[in-house]
Amino acid sequence: MNEISLENMPAPNKKSGRFRKVFVRTPGGRNRLHYKKRKPSKAKCAQCGALLKGVARARASRLKNIPKTKKRPERPYPNLCSRCARERIKQEKIYSQNKKDDKK
Ligand SMILES: [Zn+2]
Repeated sequence: MNEISLENMPAPNKKSGRFRKVFVRTPGGRNRLHYKKRKPSKAKCAQCGALLKGVARARASRLKNIPKTKKRPERPYPNLCSRCARERIKQEKIYSQNKKDDKK
């Protein structure tokens, strides 16, 4: 009786919604409730705020087991979305061209 009521009552530090509930099946065939920390929010473009694609969304403990190539796009400006990165690269090119023209 005591055990059941303890199972249904979340510990005070797990009441706030900071943790998500995970049902885990034990080897004995019973379902037990575990509390896990929530995933971090999705990565956003630093310029326009669009959600970034190809960026891993996990806690640091899992991120260290993921290859670096699967954590961010392998191109310049991985913190920008593809559209903003393209614009940035174009502007860079124009800027460097102007610099060259100034020197001549
Ligand atoms: Zn963007």
